Amino acid sequence: MAKYVLPDLKYDYGALEPHISGEIIQLHHDKHHRAYVEGANKAIEQLEEARAKKDFDRVTALEHTLAFNVSGHVLHSLYWQNLAPKAGGKPSGELARTIDRDFGSFDAFKSQLNKLAETVMGSGWAALVFDPIGQRLVTTQIHDHQSEMTQAGIPIMVLDAWEHAYYLQYRTEKAKYFDAIWNLWNWEDVAARFNVVQSVDLRLEHVIEQRT
Ligand code: MN
Repeated sequence: MAKYVLPDLKYDYGALEPHISGEIIQLHHDKHHRAYVEGANKAIEQLEEARAKKDFDRVTALEHTLAFNVSGHVLHSLYWQNLAPKAGGKPSGELARTIDRDFGSFDAFKSQLNKLAETVMGSGWAALVFDPIGQRLVTTQIHDHQSEMTQAGIPIMVLDAWEHAYYLQYRTEKAKYFDAIWNLWNWEDVAARFNVVQSVDLRLEHVIEQRT
């Protein structure tokens, strides 16, 4: 069975400075993200063991552990690619037009995403998500790695609001981290993801109508 694998960073640990320190990126990628990858693989193995022993009492707890760790792996894999050295600015093309359509303006979208990040209770994320039923972009706050996630929504841009993402550098001033990260968004990456997910249409009646 395929195992989850920690992806390499596409830039050096210090490449996102001064906005995010190299020490944070190194610990965040090599320790925190790695722990989610290992936790996901362990939960898969434990589920296999439980099935082999017909011990289905363990399944609910193991699935919760699996969802937490796989979701952590998915979100961090996105986060690393959503960021880039010397990036930021504003998106262009279809992504920019859709942000304007669905949020009113880029500035409104930015304020909305940052507010979600700032108001996370405990650990969590703020995310830009494509809703394949409504065929629109929405934002969502994510508690831990998975709860509050818009069902069927596909995250294309994620802001890690866990303390491990900023505390060594920004301490209690997390709003400064949420502002600084706008100098790092890799809009090319977000736009490429948007182009892919736009083709996901879960309004199945359209698919069925086309077939008949
Ligand atoms: Mn993190």
